Amino acid sequence: MSSPLIQSKLPNVGTTIFTVMSGLANQFNAINLGQGFPDYQMNEDLMNKVTEVMQKGWNQYVPMQGYMPLRESIAEKVDYLYQTKIDPGSQVTITPGGTYAIYTALTAILQPGDEVIIFEPGYDSYIPNVEINGAVPVLIDLKFPEYKIDWNEVRKKVSKKTKAIMLNSPHNPTGAVLHSSDMEELRDIVNGTNIFIVSDEVYEHLIFDNIPHQSILLYPDLLERSFVCFSFGKTYNCTGWKLGYCISSPESMIEFRKVHQFNCFSCHTPSQVALADFLRNKEDYLSLSGIMQEKRDYFLRLMRDTRFGMLNSSGSYFICAKYDRISDEHDRDFAIRITKEFGVATIPVSVFYKSGTDNRVVRFCFSKKKETLETAVERLSKI
Ligand code: PMP
Ligand code: GLN
Repeated sequence: MSSPLIQSKLPNVGTTIFTVMSGLANQFNAINLGQGFPDYQMNEDLMNKVTEVMQKGWNQYVPMQGYMPLRESIAEKVDYLYQTKIDPGSQVTITPGGTYAIYTALTAILQPGDEVIIFEPGYDSYIPNVEINGAVPVLIDLKFPEYKIDWNEVRKKVSKKTKAIMLNSPHNPTGAVLHSSDMEELRDIVNGTNIFIVSDEVYEHLIFDNIPHQSILLYPDLLERSFVCFSFGKTYNCTGWKLGYCISSPESMIEFRKVHQFNCFSCHTPSQVALADFLRNKEDYLSLSGIMQEKRDYFLRLMRDTRFGMLNSSGSYFICAKYDRISDEHDRDFAIRITKEFGVATIPVSVFYKSGTDNRVVRFCFSKKKETLETAVERLSKI
């Protein structure tokens, strides 16, 4: 029961599924293939670098916008990867994670009654971020089981009130990715409108099978109307660092920073100073796709010994699986039961739909050590 003195701004929201399933995994000593995080150590050089800069005295506030050399490294990286020139002074802000960047962008632009187009299944913070600002999520289902966007449906749902479209590629929870044809559709739809795009690209470097990442940053006309959100946690196997950044036009960034400066002000200094150098090491982030693709393929091979029906994943930490050959339970009941009875935690995909659509699908996180995946699948093969 929450306090009767508070009129909740999020009356329909409970505790996130990630906290629920990780709690259950701990309680039942289960292997946690639910919440998305690696179970292996992050890069040792980067860890040492943070320690070194702390010892050298980098322990006080950096500027509110972020440590300038880090923003310069980000601008260099954007130029290298996407051939787009951005100004580190006016277009990049360092944030305490990707989730915060998305929340801040939405808070900066939304007025009560504005509509935001959100695709479902979708990352669980988007809808509450919209609703807490008094705005209205307009929901569109991705086409099951490929989880593709039906752009004609987007055309139908765009209205005078549409303030923003929320994008996420590579996609959580499905691992679907956007292609250049999607970006062309998007450009066509927003052209001549005042619609913003909030693009969640935290899995930028986790994309498989040589598919190029379709960043908003490849399209200067889209960048003008976008807030593009990233997370160092995903790039450097350190989700607990909670450090990321947002890129937008200089004009939009002014409003973003008005919100940011009175919420967080500035982020953790030692990690920013360490990353300013470390980000120039291209090999490190470029090798990530290969490493994670190998994990996906290994997990897929192991899962052949189970009765799960694996869906496609072209990116992210995640792959979804149908379990209709095993059970017709609701996915939440199924996920809870297999955590308790078989010792493997997953995430039920219905939680990523406001309507609770249940296609009998659970999400697995494969950013784990080989041994973890092996033990988990050994257990899953008994179901
Ligand atoms: N967006 C998506 C789709 C994610 O999966 C995550 C992972 N937590 C985030 C945003 C947030 O990243 P961060 O931990 O940097 O806030
Ligand atoms: N992004 C991670 C996931 O989808 C979890 C982040 C969180 O716990 N909020 O599993």
